[in-house]
Amino acid sequence: MDKNKILKLAKGISPWLSKVRKDFHMYPELGMQEFRTQRKICEYLDEFGILHKKMAKTGVVGEIKGKNALKTIALRADIDALPILEKNDVSYKSKNHGVMHACGHDAHTTILLGVAKILSEQKDELGVNIRFIFQPAEETVGGAEPMIEEGVLDGVDAIFGLHVSSLIEKGSVEYRYKQMNASSDNIEIEVQGQSAHGAYPGDGVDAIVITAQLITAMQTIVSRIDARDSAVLTIGKIAGGTAHNIIADSVKLTGTLRTLDPKVRELVKEKLDVLVNTLPISMGGNGILKIGKGYSALINDDKMVELVKKNAGDILGIENVLEKEKANMGVEDFGYYLEKIPGVFFNLGVKNEKKGIMASAHNEYFDIDEEALHLGVAIQILNVLSV
Ligand SMILES: [Zn+2]
Ligand SMILES: [Zn+2]
Repeated sequence: MDKNKILKLAKGISPWLSKVRKDFHMYPELGMQEFRTQRKICEYLDEFGILHKKMAKTGVVGEIKGKNALKTIALRADIDALPILEKNDVSYKSKNHGVMHACGHDAHTTILLGVAKILSEQKDELGVNIRFIFQPAEETVGGAEPMIEEGVLDGVDAIFGLHVSSLIEKGSVEYRYKQMNASSDNIEIEVQGQSAHGAYPGDGVDAIVITAQLITAMQTIVSRIDARDSAVLTIGKIAGGTAHNIIADSVKLTGTLRTLDPKVRELVKEKLDVLVNTLPISMGGNGILKIGKGYSALINDDKMVELVKKNAGDILGIENVLEKEKANMGVEDFGYYLEKIPGVFFNLGVKNEKKGIMASAHNEYFDIDEEALHLGVAIQILNVLSV
């Protein structure tokens, strides 16, 4: 299929895409609770004659087998919504009170179904197998991990994923070589001292004074790594002590570590471990560190980025294919797939200033210009056919 045919087919299903997206938008579901969404996806895949099965509780995977196919290419959409009360005054406003598709995963699901619909009708022309991954819980526990553990990538050669972006206009695409999103780890620290009368610090060990030193010292980890690397170490919460005139015996801190490079991630964790286990001891107290492993960094494969650049350029015009200057320090669990196989994640513009569609993701006024849906479908079809 050439690009003109693909674009024509994608444009042709625009009304269907809009209908499907509005339906998902009206019935958003939180991570690992996407039962209606899962049922609807299965119904559509049944309608297209695509074999599929449920995975990771609320996920779905389907596959179209190409003729004499030697490769299997995967496309992934995340399907979950957020705990946000929608404030848009639209006919398709969320009917699930306090839950909203404010990150555009309704659009991702719709685009992937659009690709499935078109390719199922062009089956005889396909020389590759196409695997359709509908993944739950991107916003919460990282549904990519259980999907991978259950074998969703078995036999897959490459993967494409996209995210809608209200930062760039409809009709544009944004790509980035290598790092696109940071890794994330949850930090929990307890500093233990010994309580005493506030007037007699010599009788105790002041956990608050130790904590003050510790927080300052932690920031020197970030400032003293290689200047060409980056890391964020944020302590977002601190709690300790009982009264103004008592030496605190315990302080608890929680925070987040973000890095763009797996090596830097390990280095900062090691340095943090040493610091928490030695600095409080040097002051007579004790430190306990727990690191909850979060999402991996999302690192694109350069050759796959080239494919997206070319294909998006063919559909949108090369002037509308933009290089993203800086990586996001926010996370995206598509990074788990890219730890296993080559792939690429890119942004699809859905902003439309004239229509007033410009609220950022995770905002109660988030919306998309639906005219971007068929463009996403066309680009993803070109992508899977070009590997
Ligand atoms: Zn999100
Ligand atoms: Zn998202």
